[in-house]
Amino acid sequence: MLIPEMISMNNRELFYQYLGQTSTMPLSLEIDRAQGLYMYAADDKEYMDLISGISVSNIGHCHPAIVDAIRQQSEKYLHLMVYGEFVQSPQVQLAQLLTTNLPATLDNVYLVNSGSEAIEGALKLAKRYTGRHEIIAFKNAYHGSSHGSLSVTGNEALKNAFRPLLPGIRFLEYNDPEQLYEISDKTACVLVETIQGEAGAVVPDVRFMKELRRQCDRNGALLIMDEIQAGCGRSGSLWAFDQMEIVPDILTLAKGLGGGMPLGAFISSREIMHVLTHDPVLGHINTFGGNALCAAAALANMKVITDNKLWKNARAMEKVFRRNLHHPAIKNIRGRGLLLALEFDDFEQNKLLIDKLIEKGLLTDWFLFAPQCLRIAPPLIITEKEVEKACRVITETLHEIYP
Ligand code: PMP
Repeated sequence: MLIPEMISMNNRELFYQYLGQTSTMPLSLEIDRAQGLYMYAADDKEYMDLISGISVSNIGHCHPAIVDAIRQQSEKYLHLMVYGEFVQSPQVQLAQLLTTNLPATLDNVYLVNSGSEAIEGALKLAKRYTGRHEIIAFKNAYHGSSHGSLSVTGNEALKNAFRPLLPGIRFLEYNDPEQLYEISDKTACVLVETIQGEAGAVVPDVRFMKELRRQCDRNGALLIMDEIQAGCGRSGSLWAFDQMEIVPDILTLAKGLGGGMPLGAFISSREIMHVLTHDPVLGHINTFGGNALCAAAALANMKVITDNKLWKNARAMEKVFRRNLHHPAIKNIRGRGLLLALEFDDFEQNKLLIDKLIEKGLLTDWFLFAPQCLRIAPPLIITEKEVEKACRVITETLHEIYP
């Protein structure tokens, strides 16, 4: 029932009143519009976006190619039929573009709506293909919030209130090759982030990744690589696994794939994917996966990324960030490309900086499992001048806090 005060609530009040909240301190900025690297509040205050909606807006906000693709598709059709029944041009064009930019064994794309769903599909596929059910994942990994993807997330605090979750999951130390002997002929799959995002942009050793691939091969376990956060150019190469000299059996994508529209994918070989068609038939189904608008947006987005080789700019801009970010409070800079973490002593220090930066029109954030780390993950189109400006504001603000 509406009471008079509710009718006159502003949007921020409505946000707190009517939207399900998951944080005790949401940023609660109200943005009116966003373009390229910038977001604008209703009063025209400009924010430089250094987090890309958490690694989503890789080619910037409202890129004209994406807006145009959505507009054109919206005039043809939105939804026709559940996934996998009709031939839809945006879906098949996207699948072709993705697979031509992937190793030959990753030639079959299943489209879903989100990262969590991509993980769900990948886990089911691995279980079905191998006929095994043991899953190995890594401590501090984040793979999603649905029951299956939460089950393989390596943070106990996030899971405890929701048990029982999926059984048969073992967690190993990330980047420790000694623990990989746990992979056995009972293992259906090993799920690994190519760069651990929410752990605070943790880059593994190539040696560890190669050993992981070797152990999976030796035991007939499938290797699933989660590039939901690190993929689509962000790591400084189109796919982060390109830097690790190995190829996964199943790749998961989302976030930066849809160019701002909700889309996820799990990608494998035709041979592996084929098992979803029998015993049972319709082994994995969904209504909206590969929605025409999302697929059209993703196609335009991935064309911009691949035509312009935007990962090269990510690599170059990483250097500019590293060159310009110096202050005694910064303990470490982790990450690769434009998935970077500035490490401070603790969350309080980090949060104080984040709040002051927002006042100054610079949007950053922390990481779920690394609250002492400041997230720097801007759109890949950021220029050298813009990086230098961001670094100047960050270091000036640190000097104000610690004179
Ligand atoms: N995997 C990784 C590596 C992620 O970073 C995320 C999201 N932060 C997910 C999976 C889950 O994606 P979504 O939020 O779209 O379900």
